[in-house]
Amino acid sequence: MSSSIMPTYKRLPVAFERGEGAWLYDNEGNAYLDALTGIAVTGLGHCHPKVTQAIAKQAELLVHCSNLYQIPTQEALAKKLCDLAAMEAAFFCNSGAEANEAAIKLARLYGHQKEIQTPKIIVLENAFHGRTMASLTATGNVSIQQGFGPLLDGFIRVPANDIEAISAHTSDAEIVAVLLEPIQGEGGVRRLNDDYLSTVHAICHNNHWLLMFDEVQSGNGRTGTYFAYQSLPFIPDVVTTAKGLGNGVPIGACLAQGKAARVLGAGNHGSTYGGNPLACAAALAVIETLESQDLMTRVPVIRNRILKSAETHCQSWHSVQAITGKGLMIGLVMPDVCAELVSIALEHKLLINVTAGNVIRLLPALTLTDDEADMIGARLAKAIDQYSTQRAQV
Ligand SMILES: *Cc1c(COP(=O)(O)O)cnc(C)c1O
Repeated sequence: MSSSIMPTYKRLPVAFERGEGAWLYDNEGNAYLDALTGIAVTGLGHCHPKVTQAIAKQAELLVHCSNLYQIPTQEALAKKLCDLAAMEAAFFCNSGAEANEAAIKLARLYGHQKEIQTPKIIVLENAFHGRTMASLTATGNVSIQQGFGPLLDGFIRVPANDIEAISAHTSDAEIVAVLLEPIQGEGGVRRLNDDYLSTVHAICHNNHWLLMFDEVQSGNGRTGTYFAYQSLPFIPDVVTTAKGLGNGVPIGACLAQGKAARVLGAGNHGSTYGGNPLACAAALAVIETLESQDLMTRVPVIRNRILKSAETHCQSWHSVQAITGKGLMIGLVMPDVCAELVSIALEHKLLINVTAGNVIRLLPALTLTDDEADMIGARLAKAIDQYSTQRAQV
């Protein structure tokens, strides 16, 4: 079939028409169990009634008016996010990449305000920060950078979980910030060590570098706290969020506290859509639902049920080399490249993802019932068994 869409995605041969909670329904009426939530976006499940209601209500009142005017819904969302995350100020945009662009610009301006003419930001190997030019440069994946040079100057890449590699740069007076994902998502659901993160925080503090966490994937309750850093004994200077923030309505934010909250001023940055009334109403409903239903306490319970059920039902569980991530960022490390597992799972009416070649990635909803969690585990087990059998035959 010829398509009028640029072929930038390898799409699976299924089209969804309707979603409800953990379930997606295709245009032939088949039901699929969603363990991916549109890549960590619909954390409350599809079409959560509270969010749907908030969107519908706001759509009748006002969808957009631009940031030339006061936006009370945006004020309310900023206050809510800052209270929740121990931050002081928010900048709103429409995606994760844009949230990181804002953080990168903030860090550079922070440098220029300190008379550093060519500020540099430390980033990690295997990082993923988005596909716009600066976020692509910050991303540690040569294959997606290929063909888009020249990339930006001003980034230094170091291996993750390696303190020496960062402290080796403390004499470089041009460094202004460290940008990292506390749990690397696209890079293979790799969790950075708590000790490593605490030491990086201390190095940043001692050298007046900004510590910037990209929580676009790990945020919004996914790891059991609103942001992953809230299980650590410190807070970063800057945090970026997007994916789960609007449960599917595009919105991103760059939050900052302390000196970082006072860097960007009038005219320094902007977005036409960013933080419009519709997106903010959706995000407010998401946060209120997360809090009022105590959903974050369910996160470790659901993780354990999915993994327990998968292990119980799987004959070839020994082929899983390691289980990684935290909360509902779940990685199952397989021995080899296993992209075909996505199609096999689809045959079993289960939506999953494989990242970094050999890591099965699950990013399920925080609203799963115990039964749905068990069912995801059971279907995953069948898919892994089928994959293992097929592999043994070749
Ligand atoms: C998905 C992702 C991004 C990019 O978000 P977009 O909304 O696709 O621009 C950035 N950082 C992390 C950690 C992500 O997972």
